[in-house]
Amino acid sequence: MNNRQLIKLLEEINKELHENKEYLNQLDAAIGDGDHGTNVVRGFEAIQEEINKGNFDDLTPKQTLKDVAMILMSKIGGSSGPLFGTLALQMSNGLDDTERTYLDQWIKAIQSGIDGVQVLGKAQLGDKTMVDVLIPSLETLEKNINDPHKAIKEAEVTAKKAMEDTKDLEAKKGRAAYLGKRSIGHIDPGSVTIYLLWKSINQVEI
Ligand code: ADP
Ligand code: MG
Ligand code: MG
Repeated sequence: MNNRQLIKLLEEINKELHENKEYLNQLDAAIGDGDHGTNVVRGFEAIQEEINKGNFDDLTPKQTLKDVAMILMSKIGGSSGPLFGTLALQMSNGLDDTERTYLDQWIKAIQSGIDGVQVLGKAQLGDKTMVDVLIPSLETLEKNINDPHKAIKEAEVTAKKAMEDTKDLEAKKGRAAYLGKRSIGHIDPGSVTIYLLWKSINQVEI
């Protein structure tokens, strides 16, 4: 993936989140404060504005991701702003600074991003957070490292199932944890956002 393709991906994510904004808000209303869709859309709209100004045009993917991280941190707000910001920032830190990037480099970058999210948010697998989708989809990439197109297709399938499986979990982190067992029976909104990122990747040419 080169920087032009990364920009296309960010635009696709913005579109996908817009289409799902109300759904994400509804999911968050059930176990949180009902703003998750609004939050992530605010972040990616700000990214779209930077894209429209051409501010990412002359960057490498690593540099674009770093700028994206800063925007997410400052625009999303709440508890998920720092988490999504850290995901992007640590992905950037873990990515080689080359014009064209390959699956093995992204695997390293995503691992670094997940580590950052877990250091900051302390969520483990099964705590009903975005981590529950991030970890299994990375494992799927690793299993298919020799076939990049299959890898990202399969990662979307894994992410969809992992996102749906958060429904049966009791939240241990984030606002939903205040509900304890009453959080069971609802899909975690942040997990849906991570699934939508994978869905977006399969909509663009990389
Ligand atoms: P807020 O709770 O501040 O309103 P959002 O509604 O935007 O933030 O985001 C909620 C999402 O953030 C949750 O659905 C969950 O996936 C994710 N999340 C919350 N706390 C954590 C954490 N400690 N680690 C990882 N992800 C978390
Ligand atoms: Mg919320
Ligand atoms: Mg909030």
